[in-house]
Amino acid sequence: MKCPLQTEETPVVLLDYAAGRLEGARRLKLERHLAGCARCEAFRAEQAEVWDLLDAWEPPAVSTGFNRVLWRRIDEAAAAPWHRKLAEALRFGAWKPAFPIAAAAMVIVAGFVFDHRTESRPGSDPSGATATQISTPNSGIEADQVEKTLDDIQLLRQFDAVSSIRSKPI
Ligand SMILES: [Zn+2]
Repeated sequence: MKCPLQTEETPVVLLDYAAGRLEGARRLKLERHLAGCARCEAFRAEQAEVWDLLDAWEPPAVSTGFNRVLWRRIDEAAAAPWHRKLAEALRFGAWKPAFPIAAAAMVIVAGFVFDHRTESRPGSDPSGATATQISTPNSGIEADQVEKTLDDIQLLRQFDAVSSIRSKPI
């Protein structure tokens, strides 16, 4: 066989082998190649090491007082005065890291909704009659959702712009 590290096949076959997903003739062929190819053998050894480490890894045990500490903190946060909670929630510095993530999530949602609309276009499959009945009332709602999502992204951009102006030294 051709060396997987030097062909279009890429190292996927080696990754499959390391994960134990390669069977039968493909497995035998690769094992014969590994015996004569130092680069692939090194790659396989590294992968095997990763799998061994993952097998050996165990999440640390939760301490006995964990629940108690957690509930105490929740109670403390709940008992804080309302103006402090509001101030915490409105702090721009605390929001800022969330903006790019929120904007990315919005784009994904918008993309999904657009994609979903094309799929449910009436008359594209034999059960078109049913699809038409179902998708017609929905498409109005979906268009509204897209519009709302785009408005939200616009709003987030404005917030982000305001927060970056405020954080700049004058
Ligand atoms: Zn090779």
